[in-house]
Amino acid sequence: MTQVAEPEISKTSPPGRVSHWIDGRPVPGTSGREGPVYDPATGALTRHVDFASIDEVSAAVAAAKAAFPAWRATSLSKRTDIMFKIRNLVDQRRNELAAHLTAEHGKVPSDALGEIARGLENLEFATGIPHLLKGGFSEQVSTGVDVYQIRQPLGVVAGITPFNFPAMVPMWMFGTAIATGNTFILKPSEKDPSAANFLAELLHDAGVPDGVFNVVHGDKVAVDAILEHPDIAAVSFVGSTPIARHIYETGTRNGKRVQALGGAKNHMIVLPDADIDMAADAAVSAAYGSAGERCMAISVVVAVGDIADPLVEALKVRLPKIKVGPGTDPDAEMGPLVTREHRDKVASYLDSGPAQGADLVVDGREHVLFQEGKGFFLGVSLLDRVSPEMECYRNEIFGPVLEVVRVPTYPEAVALINDNPYGNGTAIFTRDGGAARQFQFEVNTGMVGINVPIPVPVAYYSFGGWKASLFGDLHMYGPEGIQFYTRAKIVTSRWPDPGTSKVDLGFPRTR
Ligand code: NAD
Repeated sequence: MTQVAEPEISKTSPPGRVSHWIDGRPVPGTSGREGPVYDPATGALTRHVDFASIDEVSAAVAAAKAAFPAWRATSLSKRTDIMFKIRNLVDQRRNELAAHLTAEHGKVPSDALGEIARGLENLEFATGIPHLLKGGFSEQVSTGVDVYQIRQPLGVVAGITPFNFPAMVPMWMFGTAIATGNTFILKPSEKDPSAANFLAELLHDAGVPDGVFNVVHGDKVAVDAILEHPDIAAVSFVGSTPIARHIYETGTRNGKRVQALGGAKNHMIVLPDADIDMAADAAVSAAYGSAGERCMAISVVVAVGDIADPLVEALKVRLPKIKVGPGTDPDAEMGPLVTREHRDKVASYLDSGPAQGADLVVDGREHVLFQEGKGFFLGVSLLDRVSPEMECYRNEIFGPVLEVVRVPTYPEAVALINDNPYGNGTAIFTRDGGAARQFQFEVNTGMVGINVPIPVPVAYYSFGGWKASLFGDLHMYGPEGIQFYTRAKIVTSRWPDPGTSKVDLGFPRTR
């Protein structure tokens, strides 16, 4: 098992405090507003994070705006060189970054290092920027006339990110955004803000010019200042659905390009022909990894036909073997939840589910760490015979609670997914290729796994859900990320010999 060192408090902030990072340096907050940051494994208050005022957001935007002309004019080879340096520094310092994730999010080191590995893939993708920014050229579209398309950056762009991936989700955004020539403002989650400052230091050390990458911390005040600022051209958001909707509506109303990824309720269908052990291993891994705080976590297993009883039994026997503990325990496979409030909210579904008719097969509140009340721990839980009208089904639980819905046939299983308001990811477990292909064809979600429970796209594809899991047109990172952070310019050009021109008020008729 991987062990990760305790993080040093970032050199960019005074002890016990996480400040903003603007124009290449740490900037202590002046708003007088701040938020608490906890160690979820102990429940201890470890530091405070400054909350930006509208003026502090404006200062970051001004720095990013001032840095934009020189950065967009920086050659592609120089930008590529810097992207490689960023990638290498994140790789070399991954253990320190992981320690920040464990200290503030609570995820165990193996999970934290996995998050960083997936983020690194996005930085690696961005090192290919000269190839990715190639436009198109059509010679001789008319006599002596050529047409070509170039893609140019938007200007100052912002990223607003959730607590559950404090390193990876910013890397989904800023790698592509700055490689394409934009300057960037990151507003990370206030619950685990230190990773953002650590990344800012690495970018600085990699040679990213001052003002190209900035971090403002805060809450709704900072977010709304971003959404309303006239000098911000585009906003990328990842978080819960109600906030994603607010970001999309407010950002677009203010003339910005917006991609806002929301919450999820990911179903995994298990057909009667599936290998039960394989399906149970996959469901348990995908449901309880990172304490269920992944937007691609499996939260509902849809058991089709007579596989339900043996499948529930196979799930049940696996749960006591999951080692729950703090990230400092090298054997721990699952850590605490991010805050006490969130843990209590997740635990509340273990009351409402059975009250509305579900079977509580395994109750995570019986876990010793929950009983002791140290940290924000909740053991793994399993609810069987869940039905769509129950509160635990209608809400995104975002914790270590797996639900089983039993249906008689495959069409009912697909209908359940297609009727759900969310459409982030889904999976099917079967040995029947025809059934899998039919599922891929007709299911209404953005990401589909076939015998793969967490189908997160590799960096050279793009990530995004459908329905209430994404507001906007373009998915995040990969080719669609390049499209999001650039706009097309089409040039029509001719170089006629002098003396050959004449006045012609008509529209060209000949070809
Ligand atoms: P959240 O929506 O509470 O917060 C996300 C960001 O929005 C944070 O930076 C936060 O400070 C800000 N914010 C919170 N409340 C706000 C408000 N009222 N006005 C303006 N800004 C506000 O989400 P979270 O709890 O940090 O993250 C968990 C959620 O994110 C889950 O719903 C999960 O499914 C979702 N998520 C989705 C994806 C995806 O790719 N679709 C990925 C990761 C997480």
